[in-house]
Amino acid sequence: MTTLYAIYGASGCGRSLMPVARQQLAREHDSSEIVFIDDALIEVASVNGHRAMNYQHFLNETADAKAVQIAIANSRVREKIAQRLEADGISLWSIQADNVILMDQAEIAAGTALSPFVTITSNIKIGKCFHANLYSYVEHDCVIGDFVTFAPGVKCNGNIHIHDHAYIGAGAMIKQGTPDQPLVIGAGAVVGMGAVVTKSVPAGATVVGNPARIMQPK
Ligand code: UDP
Repeated sequence: MTTLYAIYGASGCGRSLMPVARQQLAREHDSSEIVFIDDALIEVASVNGHRAMNYQHFLNETADAKAVQIAIANSRVREKIAQRLEADGISLWSIQADNVILMDQAEIAAGTALSPFVTITSNIKIGKCFHANLYSYVEHDCVIGDFVTFAPGVKCNGNIHIHDHAYIGAGAMIKQGTPDQPLVIGAGAVVGMGAVVTKSVPAGATVVGNPARIMQPK
């Protein structure tokens, strides 16, 4: 049985996740090919030593099964592509770097990408297509929705709930909640880089600074 694996997106995010994808297959002693999919490509090309093609070309490839990691930082684009893959019967592929630390009872949905030096501690629930970039951590009892994105170095402490499509910027730290009163980052909220989040953030809001405050649209 042959599986064709792909990293969807051959820009910054995709090119950084391809080595993580290779580590994933090497750990599984799987010598299958991994290609890039990028819709900006007209012809089949080569990117960092891997074949690269648009989605239509990928669909035309012959394989018993296909699995795709959507390596695009924009979560709305990830969702759109995930829906298309699902409709085409292609599975979402989860990848993690060799040095990721996963503790007990972490329930993680399909399509996740855990970059080098990420730590996921115990009793955590994570939704579809989560991206945790370099050096981020998720502490105990967090609940993370679908299509959430962590830039590098996010410090997500215990008892925090992060809803769908939230984006947490590089080096942001979020104060821990409590079991009966988790700190909540609402759906689609954006936490600016380096923000120190001390209280819940409403859905759709952007917060910046220390302590983090809502940034009003100009
Ligand atoms: N892309 C694509 N199909 C889509 C939307 C985006 O192949 O429907 C590709 C796009 O051509 C680009 C990449 O995804 O190469 C996104 O790269 P970008 O630099 O915007 O962000 P990154 O997520 O890599 O940081």
